[in-house]
Amino acid sequence: MGISADKVKIGLEVHVQLTSLKTKLFCGCSADYRGKEPNTLVCPVCLGLPGSLPVLNKKAVEYAVMAALALNCEISKRMFFFRKNYFYPDLPKNFQITQYDRAGGVPLARNGYLYIEYENGRKKIRIRRIHLEEDPGRLVHLGPIDHSPYTLVDYNRSGIALLEIVTEPDMRSPREARIFLQKLRSILEHLGIFDGSLEGSMRCDANISLAGGTRVEVKNISSFKEVERALNFEITRQRGLLEKGMKVKRETRHWDEVRRVTVSLRGKETEQDYRYFPEPDLVPIELDKEFIGRVKAQMPELPDDRMERFIIQYGLPRYDASVLVSSKALADFFEEAVKLYDKPKVISNWMMSDLQRYLYENNLELEESKITPEKLVEMIRLIDEGVISGKIAKRILPKIIVTGKSAREIVKEEGMVKISDRKILERLIDRVFAENPKAVRDALRDEKAAHYLMGQLMKATQGRADPILSSRMIMDRLNRLRKESGESKVKS
Ligand code: ZN
Ligand code: MN
Repeated sequence: MGISADKVKIGLEVHVQLTSLKTKLFCGCSADYRGKEPNTLVCPVCLGLPGSLPVLNKKAVEYAVMAALALNCEISKRMFFFRKNYFYPDLPKNFQITQYDRAGGVPLARNGYLYIEYENGRKKIRIRRIHLEEDPGRLVHLGPIDHSPYTLVDYNRSGIALLEIVTEPDMRSPREARIFLQKLRSILEHLGIFDGSLEGSMRCDANISLAGGTRVEVKNISSFKEVERALNFEITRQRGLLEKGMKVKRETRHWDEVRRVTVSLRGKETEQDYRYFPEPDLVPIELDKEFIGRVKAQMPELPDDRMERFIIQYGLPRYDASVLVSSKALADFFEEAVKLYDKPKVISNWMMSDLQRYLYENNLELEESKITPEKLVEMIRLIDEGVISGKIAKRILPKIIVTGKSAREIVKEEGMVKISDRKILERLIDRVFAENPKAVRDALRDEKAAHYLMGQLMKATQGRADPILSSRMIMDRLNRLRKESGESKVKS
């Protein structure tokens, strides 16, 4: 049974690290915590020691405003920080400095939107609010979270600047949620404030409900690769309950990436549980017109504009352009390749089909693969020069992606050069005809049956026979045989 589109509602709460910042949100500790010895990038502020005072990172505000502008939000003229109180080992102060949109609180920005693109159209996803907050420390559980014997904590991540981006429940399928996250990532990467390839830099919680059910929150979705999986699981689980006439409990569940299931963590806490109140150690912040104007002036080209440019400048179909700009790395790769070889449509086709498919099927990011624009272009040139066939190129491409070897090297090593020598092809066709007498008889009567002979030739040469030349040669041979046997030529 399919998931009926009008019955699912998904809203996302995305936490994005401003990875381009050098320092944390409220102290001067290095923000470059990945791969560092645990608990070495810490100070009294990010450890929450008594008497320490936070100082706001101005660059973080600049980046956050940039993101808010790119997401078409209304930016608050004046904003505050709040304390969100809760006890958890990743939070040494027992509260998180964040922003709040109630009790007189004002988040950085509200009421924005972005568009996600489909094969035939686009859809607006509304952004409810964006705010700045600090990342808690990192908990490392031994084994699954629901029966872990112990947990380690690393405060290097404590105090890293986060943007929390909350959408309206506008998504109707797990796929839409994935496309949304991809688009969001692409926008933030174009702004130069975020690198989504870093582990844990984009984390996502999802609210999901089915008609007739209750809203359930799924936490700990660690990347946009996982979001589709987690939501599909949750839809199946909730539908199963509803179909049995059981109730869906209002709760928070945890996505277990390893077991690929959601597990119940706790009943949903209410807002009152957090005892929000204004942070007395930080002054309110005025975001005046000049400041916002200055940020606006630095904004680079964003994915939507880039897509329009790709359509006009390179003559690409709209959907192809939208797929290319769905990742900054992909769009940059494309433009670099076009600079090397002015065949945008051919390059785009290879990227859209074989390259993307391989990456998707192997759960790889373009940045994780070894292919470069130079290497893709070299392969396409080999096809255009007649050295290899398109079919061979399809076999070479995955090898380039995995090994980073050049197409020329692979061709040489594996003897994949296209066979366009008439004499060699003549001999090979002799053999195919001799070995397949029935197919030859069929082909003499019905030209469509000649495809089988062509297939046999390709099989014998592992796809290396020049397809155009050898198909012409097979047809010529069949015509000759028809004449010899006195039969009339079959119309093609
Ligand atoms: Zn610190
Ligand atoms: Mn948050």
